[in-house]
Amino acid sequence: LASRDFHPENTVISIGDVKIGGGELVVMGGPCAVESPEQIDEIARLVKAAGGQVLRGGAFKPRTGPYSFQGVGVEGLVMMAEAGKKHGLLTITEVMTPEYVDVCAEYADILQVGTRNMQNFDLLRKLGTCNRPVLLKRGFSATYDEFLNAAEYILAGGNPNVMLCERGIRTFETYTRNTLDLSAIPVLQNLSHLPVISDPSHGTGRRELVEPMTKASVAAGADGLIIEMHTDPDNSMTGDGVQSLFPDQFAALLQDLEKLAPLV
Ligand code: PEP
Ligand code: MN
Repeated sequence: LASRDFHPENTVISIGDVKIGGGELVVMGGPCAVESPEQIDEIARLVKAAGGQVLRGGAFKPRTGPYSFQGVGVEGLVMMAEAGKKHGLLTITEVMTPEYVDVCAEYADILQVGTRNMQNFDLLRKLGTCNRPVLLKRGFSATYDEFLNAAEYILAGGNPNVMLCERGIRTFETYTRNTLDLSAIPVLQNLSHLPVISDPSHGTGRRELVEPMTKASVAAGADGLIIEMHTDPDNSMTGDGVQSLFPDQFAALLQDLEKLAPLV
């Protein structure tokens, strides 16, 4: 079902007025984690003002260590839904377990599967029965074939609205947090009809690399981007402040993108 051989036309995912995979670039921006109503409201305002279409933010965070901040939970879903509605943005949030799919689907427009859960097959099966589009992140050590098979689980369950997200893979290089695999963009578009989104924030782990790798992703043909932005990255509640753009950097980057590709 994920293969272009059996489905030659591109899948276009329509949510409200936003079309993903239809030739216009979609930008999803926001913090790694939802922290407070004021934080997410202010960031939503800035994402909208910059020309973004989707507000990102994690209410449930898949942290590497069990003692790190794990997210604010269901309250965060409510805060983000309110901010999205108020500022006219769609919302995307990560869901980590099958039990939380229904509540996340109630509050968010798009559900994200994180890199660590790409092969959480129970979660993928549950998302196959859900009526929300899914952004599936590539496992940080998954091959393209494994990635497409993970998408296949969601499609096979009856949900046709899956986008693939390249978010960097693990290589021998330690300067960057991950190595953003730019080749994944054209490869996945050749092998599959599903939209391909690039995540230069987790793909590099370094703020100064987000702008060039965003532009490189657009040049490589990405259908959209998911970018971390925070009003006070140095004091953010996850470690991802170091890769989060400041609001003015985010706005300037989107202005540059308008020159490369039309925004929705
Ligand atoms: C995130 O988007 O904040 C996140 C945890 O991403 P990943 O699953 O790619 O690490
Ligand atoms: Mn993050």
